[in-house]
Amino acid sequence: MDGFFHEGDLVSVLTTQPVGRPFDYKAPEGGCALGAFVEVPLGPRKVLGVVWGAGQGDYDRARVRSVIRVLDAAPLRDEMQVFLQRAADYTLTPLPAMLRLATRAPGLGDPPSMRTVYRLGDGEPARMTDARRKVLEVLRDYGGLAFTLKELAEAAGVTPSVVKGLVESGAVLEEAAPRDLPYPRLDPDLPGKALTEDQAAGAQALAGALRSGAYGTTLLKGVTGSGKTEVYLEAVAECLRQGRQALVLLPEIALTAEFLTRVEARFGARPAEWHSGVTMTERRRLWRMVGRGEAQFLVGARSALFLPYRDLGLVVVDEEHDTSYKQEDGVLYNARDMAVLRASINDAQVVLASATPSLESWANAEAGKYQRIELTARFGEAVLPSMRAVDMRAEDVPSGRWVSPTLKAAVEARLARKEQALLFINRRGYAPVTLCRACGHQIGCDHCDARMVEHRFLKRLVCHQCGESKPMPTVCPSCGAEDRLAPVGPGVERLAEEAAGLFPEARIAVLSSDLYGSARQLKAQIEEIAAGGADIIIGTQLVAKGHNFPLLTLVGVIDADLGLMGSDLRAAERTFQLMRQVAGRAGRAEAPGEALLQTYQPEHPVIRSILTGDEEAFWRAEAEERRQAGMPPYGRMAGIVLSSPDVQQVFDLGTEMARRDQPLRAIGAEVFGPAPAPIARIRGRHRVRLLVKAAKGAPLQKALAAWAGQFRLKGDLRMAIDIDPQSF
Ligand code: ADP
Ligand code: ZN
Repeated sequence: MDGFFHEGDLVSVLTTQPVGRPFDYKAPEGGCALGAFVEVPLGPRKVLGVVWGAGQGDYDRARVRSVIRVLDAAPLRDEMQVFLQRAADYTLTPLPAMLRLATRAPGLGDPPSMRTVYRLGDGEPARMTDARRKVLEVLRDYGGLAFTLKELAEAAGVTPSVVKGLVESGAVLEEAAPRDLPYPRLDPDLPGKALTEDQAAGAQALAGALRSGAYGTTLLKGVTGSGKTEVYLEAVAECLRQGRQALVLLPEIALTAEFLTRVEARFGARPAEWHSGVTMTERRRLWRMVGRGEAQFLVGARSALFLPYRDLGLVVVDEEHDTSYKQEDGVLYNARDMAVLRASINDAQVVLASATPSLESWANAEAGKYQRIELTARFGEAVLPSMRAVDMRAEDVPSGRWVSPTLKAAVEARLARKEQALLFINRRGYAPVTLCRACGHQIGCDHCDARMVEHRFLKRLVCHQCGESKPMPTVCPSCGAEDRLAPVGPGVERLAEEAAGLFPEARIAVLSSDLYGSARQLKAQIEEIAAGGADIIIGTQLVAKGHNFPLLTLVGVIDADLGLMGSDLRAAERTFQLMRQVAGRAGRAEAPGEALLQTYQPEHPVIRSILTGDEEAFWRAEAEERRQAGMPPYGRMAGIVLSSPDVQQVFDLGTEMARRDQPLRAIGAEVFGPAPAPIARIRGRHRVRLLVKAAKGAPLQKALAAWAGQFRLKGDLRMAIDIDPQSF
């Protein structure tokens, strides 16, 4: 039989251990399938592996060890093997590290544990009470679904003993069931919302693409509030009708709650969730259910791409431009690109949704590689907010204050009308710099090349690079002067303090990622704000992402120039996206919205294009600049970051690498650097970066591998290769 190995056959097993390549083993008693998860001996240890193919047999057969056991898990499918291999080749990641992403479920292969569940029986309780009636009602409402004791008691609002009492009479059945309780089925044929003409056309196009049964990518571009979510949920419906699985990636767990509710309204049940907030038990269950095709619809973080789907038909990447799709730790990959790769191997469709697409996706749509669907109007009466610059050179703002008189008046008008206002600043903490007024010293992190940021809420200084924190000192660590340390510049906490002084009657809510213990707390706060529980919202980037605040009619951007200051070539693109995204929060319901951008450079071309909203003109200008410079998406780039505690060692290796660049020159690529990396020291390690630039069609990965392979990493030196770096 093809893809099956009999006892004693040589098989090649890939493990998640950093040993480089698959090793040969003998198939165990009973044989094993291609892709099977197995336990194999490696040195003195037992490790997890996957049967990757037939053995090479290139050494003494007698010395080959046997597979210990085949684990009780569905074998990894062919297309998953192909995906991992290609993803490894593309990102220049060793295959074992890639496999690790696909075997994240803890206790993989252990049989599901059992638990006691309760469901509706035929019996009648001898005596009916209100509490008993409530329990039976819940069970009837959920037609046949099994509950744990705790779930059922909570849903009915009774004590567990009430449930137990019903078991005796047979009205409720108590039974043992695997922990893999089935997910409630989603019904794609429930009536959805009546779509507008534009939306219906978009939904039709996506459904048609799905019915083709072939791979394709669609850029779904539409201003915030235009109904992109409604449109792609129709693609999900089509995918479910075909019996295939659908995955929606969201850039931020905090967005999941609202999404789950919308899905439930559309399909009658919630999708399964996969992200860092999901418990280990639940992950294990989901991992198995995905493999059996019993989890039909998932919503999750980027790592959900590496789950073992039985038949993945659709991947939606919502807010596809979001930088958090790029994993910057461990395996460096961009989930948007991996979604396209995964789908192309699986004859699946990809939908990239955004109000402000990345230049990469915009260019791919321009070139005809992606289908393009555009929603130009906001749904219903809602109109896009009017955008205006507040020229800070003409405003009278005392030092240590950031809200201009113009913005203050606009907020007051909202307060008078009982509408909400949002003040946006993309900086966590109280102040970005703590300066000694006696000696001029700025307090920095001991381990990183970064300033410590004061968090008054925590009463500490925090390094945003490594997380190190220390109590706020009263004495300058450099000159010893007492009480001369002063905050410089605004952060979200300081802005909240200013707002409290300016608007003493207003209820102020601060939304910043570091202020929440859990996703649940954040969700609760977001819901409270949406329901009108605050008059003024003060927030960082967190608020820019997709939340619906129906009462919000004013967005004030405190410092529109902030993102334009660095030397990063993507600064314009990022600022444009962020500003349009934040402004898009205003005026989602009937009341029209307004966005005010405080800026010291209202003539700056990026600020101008944000204000006019002429996106096509902006993209074309950006694209032309990148084309001229041979930068992505019109050329290819890779970043090589070398790091070591020893600064001399990293620069020496960097210099040597730049000199011995023959494999790169052979493909016409250029090397720049070594130069200090954008953050030159993190956690005590000095970081040096080389950038490699090649023409679009050049075999960059092959050349990089040959080039990097020439150098040995001595001592504590580390090298990370970043294909398509976010900043360059
Ligand atoms: P986007 O994803 O483009 O920001 P949404 O899909 O979130 O837009 O839609 C914005 C709001 O308008 C949501 O509250 C949504 O429920 C509502 N909406 C959009 N289209 C329709 C429709 N056809 N019928 C009813 N409500 C709609
Ligand atoms: Zn640090």
